Amino acid sequence: MPIAIYPGSFDPIHLGHVDITRRAAQLFDHVYFAIYDRPNKNLLFPTAERITLAEEALADLKNVTVISYRELTVDLAKRLGADVIVRGLRAISDFEWELQLALTNRELAPNVEVVCLMTRIEYAFLSSTIVKEVASLHGDVAKMVPPNVEIALKAKFGGEG
Ligand code: ADP
Repeated sequence: MPIAIYPGSFDPIHLGHVDITRRAAQLFDHVYFAIYDRPNKNLLFPTAERITLAEEALADLKNVTVISYRELTVDLAKRLGADVIVRGLRAISDFEWELQLALTNRELAPNVEVVCLMTRIEYAFLSSTIVKEVASLHGDVAKMVPPNVEIALKAKFGGEG
């Protein structure tokens, strides 16, 4: 079975990401949970913290390794000998972006296949942006993120969030 990478910003990791990783870990020999170190976005959690949060949340998955990276995703795949890039799909709105990304990656590296796993219905609305918004307003994120991430969000925003 092939080796896969699951790349993203993961700022922070939430239960939708955990579910995709868990399912990928059943499909592939090894999964690298790859945290992009230089996203073109404002980040809440620095890379070191995003790594720790993901390592804790995925600790029971023995064939998953959390790493960070700075190069093109396809270059990371080549460097690690990975055949597959895993991405998660929620609504149709994700599809257009993921298709654009996948076609670009195919131009750059024709041998690396992109595999999209569909979200579970209970996580279909979940995004790191929503999690941060709710936490910043001190809403309950217990059903959205692993317990360690809930604690980290409370530390960032204070109160019940
Ligand atoms: P990026 O900055 O690359 O969009 P994210 O951390 O937001 O990274 O997401 C990483 C991957 O996880 C993407 O493929 C995204 O579509 C997927 N994903 C995000 N939220 C969910 C969810 N609730 N269910 C399934 N997949 C998801």
